[in-house]
Amino acid sequence: MSTQAARRKGADGPGMEGTGTMRIGRRTLLAGTAAVAAGAAGAWWWGGEPPVPKADRAARTEGQLFERGLIGIERSGWTRPEGVAAPWPVLAADLAADVLVVGAGLAGSSLALHLAEAGLKVAVIEARQPGWGASGRNAGHVLPTLRDAAVFERFPDGGKAFLDAFRKHRNLPYDLAARHGAAQDAVRSGYLNVAENAEAAAEFRAKSAWMERQGLLRIEETGGEELVRQTGSRLWTHAISFPDGGQVNPYRLTNAMTAAAARLGALVFGESPAIRIDQAGSRWTVRTPRGSVTAERVVFCTNAYPTDVVPEFATAFYPLTAYALTTRTLPDEAKALIMPGRQTLSQLPLDINPLVRDRHDRLILSSIPTVSSPEDAVWHFRNQLAWLHHAWPETKAMKIELEAYWTGRVAMRDREFPGVFQPRAGIYGLMYFNAWGNLMAPLMGKLLARGLAADRTDALPFPIEKPLAVSNQGKMDRIIRHLLIPAARTAQNLGVL
Ligand SMILES: Cc1cc2nc3c(=O)[nH]c(=O)nc-3n(C[C@H](O)[C@H](O)[C@H](O)COP(=O)(O)OP(=O)(O)OC[C@H]3O[C@@H](n4cnc5c(N)ncnc54)[C@H](O)[C@@H]3O)c2cc1C
Repeated sequence: MSTQAARRKGADGPGMEGTGTMRIGRRTLLAGTAAVAAGAAGAWWWGGEPPVPKADRAARTEGQLFERGLIGIERSGWTRPEGVAAPWPVLAADLAADVLVVGAGLAGSSLALHLAEAGLKVAVIEARQPGWGASGRNAGHVLPTLRDAAVFERFPDGGKAFLDAFRKHRNLPYDLAARHGAAQDAVRSGYLNVAENAEAAAEFRAKSAWMERQGLLRIEETGGEELVRQTGSRLWTHAISFPDGGQVNPYRLTNAMTAAAARLGALVFGESPAIRIDQAGSRWTVRTPRGSVTAERVVFCTNAYPTDVVPEFATAFYPLTAYALTTRTLPDEAKALIMPGRQTLSQLPLDINPLVRDRHDRLILSSIPTVSSPEDAVWHFRNQLAWLHHAWPETKAMKIELEAYWTGRVAMRDREFPGVFQPRAGIYGLMYFNAWGNLMAPLMGKLLARGLAADRTDALPFPIEKPLAVSNQGKMDRIIRHLLIPAARTAQNLGVL
């Protein structure tokens, strides 16, 4: 049976019609309990509650759904105009697999794909449908950098193996998209870090120099009339450009990888949340409302949307709600003006208006929503439009309209590196990608798959950690959303930023 046929045959989840970075300082800043131990050793149980944390469960109004990044995925501009992908069937049987992947975002779908390529029997269960989480909601920047050289000091070999892998696979999103029928959805269009003065550009270049020295990152400098030609704006005088950066439709890349995994034999299920995990000898049985998968190894890829099935995964990160929006396809005069070469745009020293011009000639803009009205699409669009008018004054006379506005959740850590966890033998977590998952989640999925397939998790190019609860989970939200972003917006409105 074809993948599509299999998907339709068992598709008894809710009907999904084809309806359709932020980096607040990605570099600067972005940088449950319902589960109670059941009697049996190694089992956690939800006590019959729906498999989401209490606060998510309580979200009902539009405002609450936007606040928690839970608004339906059909609201994300990345599902348009192509539409929401066809649903995968609900798991309604008891199956066995070598590895069970829980959660199908960029991380889980890459992991499943690379495990299937290695010949393992893989099952994937997703609580909603692939790409429903941050991977269907993000800002679309492919940032080909590493954030923090210091983290590698804690790696067994000083990070050598990981850096080698990064050097080799830093174009992974484009390669995967090209290989799996989504070439147009991930494009190495370049990444321009623009500055209004030479000092900001020089400071940034100095910070990135260690990557350039190690052959991890290609850097070019541009400025003057060449920069005006590239951006269409006279606001910036200098830029540090990353030729290997670019853009991705993360929803479509996630779904392309999931479909490719299924073609290789992976069993993929949607609307099938893990609600309980029990030890079964040396294996684990994960139950969903209507079925189960028993596997030697289970990898949770639930990122900032954890359920409390493994309680540790719900408390070891700082959640932060972010938003993105897309304009409608630009009018012809704006197409000729704004980023004609489609490089992804980021501002130095603080980026509160990261911008992508996608293949449909829409602008994707992103930031952090206000605390008071995270659902207010009009206000957030107006804010971005004011910045567009500042950077491209000619746009004041152009018709630039909002097409879609949505929110999602980012998972931050104290350290600038994703977490690979092993809370119990056979149970893993691959998660917490901050606003940096478009490259790192597929890459980490690929590398973890290699270790699991060879049964050599001891030889992974990054450390495996124990998930430790952070002491104050609301910390980043308070610092970034309540303090820094409002201050930056005020500074921008006053013309000092
Ligand atoms: C607004 C916004 C802008 C961003 N901008 C960028 C950017 O420009 N560039 C960049 O690189 N990164 C960006 N990011 C971050 C990026 O989106 C994430 O790092 C990345 O998508 C993480 O992928 P993931 O697979 O780990 O998690 P997710 O995509 O969140 O997937 C987790 C999945 O797990 C599922 N799940 C949870 N619990 C269960 C369960 N019990 N059973 C089964 N399934 C379960 C969820 O339904 C979800 O689909 C942004 C994020 C947001 C929100």
